[in-house]
Amino acid sequence: MNTNAKYLEDTYCFQSNASITDMAQIGNSAEVYFDKTIFYPQGGGQPSDTGYLDVNGNRYEVSAVEYRDGNIVHHVIGLKVEDGLIGKSVVQHVDGEKRLKNAKAHTAGHLITHILEEMNPGLLPAKGYHFPSGSYVEMLDEKRQGNSEMLDEAMAKLQEAINAEMEIKAISSTFEEIEKLRPFLARYVPKDKPTRMIAIGNFTPVPCGGTHVSNTKELTGLVITRIKRKKDRLKVNYEFT
Ligand SMILES: [Zn+2]
Repeated sequence: MNTNAKYLEDTYCFQSNASITDMAQIGNSAEVYFDKTIFYPQGGGQPSDTGYLDVNGNRYEVSAVEYRDGNIVHHVIGLKVEDGLIGKSVVQHVDGEKRLKNAKAHTAGHLITHILEEMNPGLLPAKGYHFPSGSYVEMLDEKRQGNSEMLDEAMAKLQEAINAEMEIKAISSTFEEIEKLRPFLARYVPKDKPTRMIAIGNFTPVPCGGTHVSNTKELTGLVITRIKRKKDRLKVNYEFT
């Protein structure tokens, strides 16, 4: 049974109950599986959540979370398989400050990508690295039209989007809809089931399974620090000041 990814529903939910469905002992840590989880597993250029579990009145650190074959694996320090916890309900606690920092850095990558592709439709989203330190997005720039001179205009448009307090929401789209909106990205999404898309204001939505803040006003302080072209890619660095 695959883990129900509750973090997709609410970025701001930092505490929830869940039942342990399986465990494996790895030294002093346990790999723990739940029926559902509010912990984001590392992936898509975004670091995993960390936090702790409350189990029978004791507190255990969740040091890392990863996605594995449809399931979400939580590395929990000090928990023992022999304690017979499978089937038991525990309380998950996500480090909210870290979650929001990660969600902001990740959402910022989307917004900057939208602004650049609007400035030049020849630029296509290619890669994102949204760790809060050293964040960047890369755009595919086959016609080699992008350059560092875009920075001032991109920065002005970014500030406009933040001031406009645009709503950010997740929507569910069919393959056909995505093929129309995002022909370049459609090849990466499943044909037989709906895909989660993230929509910022009126920008064209994009498929994504990450955590996002709910309004562009939460991205106050975001600055683009550098735009640099390397061969057919445009690399755009950004940070929060
Ligand atoms: Zn995203």
